[in-house]
Amino acid sequence: PLNRETSKHLYEKAQDVIVGGVNSPSRSFKAVGGGAPVFMERGEGAHFYDVDGNRYIDYLAAYGPLIHGHGNKHIADAITQAAQSGVLYGTPTKLEIDFATMLRDAIPSLEKVRFVNSGTEAVMTTIRVARAYTGRNKIMKFAGCYHGHSDLVLVAAGSGPSTLGIPDSAGIPQAIANDMITIPFNDLTAFEDALKKWGAETAAILVEPIVGNFGIVRPDPGFLEGVNELAHRYGALVIYDEVITAFRFHYGGAQDLLGVKPDMTALGKIIGGGLPIGAYGGRIDIMEKVAPLGPAYQAGTMAGNPASIAAGIACIQELQHEGTYERLDNYGAQLEAALLQAAARHGHTVTLNRVGGAFALYFLDHEVRNYDDAQAADGEKFARFFHLLLDEGVLLAPSKYEAWFVSTAHTQADIDFTIDVINRVFAQL
Ligand code: PMP
Repeated sequence: PLNRETSKHLYEKAQDVIVGGVNSPSRSFKAVGGGAPVFMERGEGAHFYDVDGNRYIDYLAAYGPLIHGHGNKHIADAITQAAQSGVLYGTPTKLEIDFATMLRDAIPSLEKVRFVNSGTEAVMTTIRVARAYTGRNKIMKFAGCYHGHSDLVLVAAGSGPSTLGIPDSAGIPQAIANDMITIPFNDLTAFEDALKKWGAETAAILVEPIVGNFGIVRPDPGFLEGVNELAHRYGALVIYDEVITAFRFHYGGAQDLLGVKPDMTALGKIIGGGLPIGAYGGRIDIMEKVAPLGPAYQAGTMAGNPASIAAGIACIQELQHEGTYERLDNYGAQLEAALLQAAARHGHTVTLNRVGGAFALYFLDHEVRNYDDAQAADGEKFARFFHLLLDEGVLLAPSKYEAWFVSTAHTQADIDFTIDVINRVFAQL
């Protein structure tokens, strides 16, 4: 095993001053048997280095944003230039117009946009605006989909809380949770049944068009079209949470890849190039409910700050190079083949879901179409697999159904290295 003494030591110190030693619970190793998480010191391309000097190939991508890996020069230059020009003005800037225009060109359903600071804020605000627009209170979502940590959406959430076995959070009044209705993904019948009961009170349905929070789960053919049709029949809006999915599989939203159009969209992660950001947008008649034009209030001291916007523009520009998504898909396909072959060779039953350079490996004997399927994956075996990979210098998210993300910084040599590691790890598993 790699020597991680300094990480262990820092974890002790961190626990003394930071609650749980981490600033986001999914960073703890609770779901993979506990112990000290790895404390990173430096990143470079597809690699990062921990405080003990060990090198890891990064498939975590900071839970999504780092589609260009660490220290991308174009993004770093943009951030440096923004920092040297003063990091914050509290006034509008031209850069915000440039970025909003780029996003609308890439995702045409964003007729009007507003920048915020996180995916949580983006989703939280789409809910407020949908309620303001419809005059209704109830919201529907799909089980296991994580939409940030605001009160209403932290019900049957996926990636963080449920992995840790906490389906709900304490501190959320029951009266708020009562306004959230949770439905299994890929189940139009359940959605229609819920609408028959609560449709007249429902403001919106929140949808990850390709699920990114219990692995990677595609919608069944016709599912998203059905969601749109049914929601609109009952006068409810359709909100896509593309915080993970936008620009991940395709230049634009998953909505553009799949040819479906929501009323509103929430964005985050990749569009900040590694700095904090969120954005939401959608139909003009809905977005005009937002202050200062309309009665739905939303604000932010840091919203649209020049550093995040400059990083975001640079990140999206870097995705415009010819062949970017083909390369991510090619590397994803190589890793998929290697994982499936190694698992079969050593007698492990697995399911793998992949879209382009993002995929999830489940230790499971059936396909994953919804959260119940993903939850049935063998967490104990995943934990052993995770630690074997880690000790060979391959880092993933410490969760049995979190996605692996390939970045544009990965090279064929990184993929070859990873495939060797995969073969050795399955032999030991
Ligand atoms: N929506 C989705 C789909 C997410 O994956 C996340 C974060 N994992 C969020 C919202 C919340 O974003 P943030 O962590 O930036 O608040």
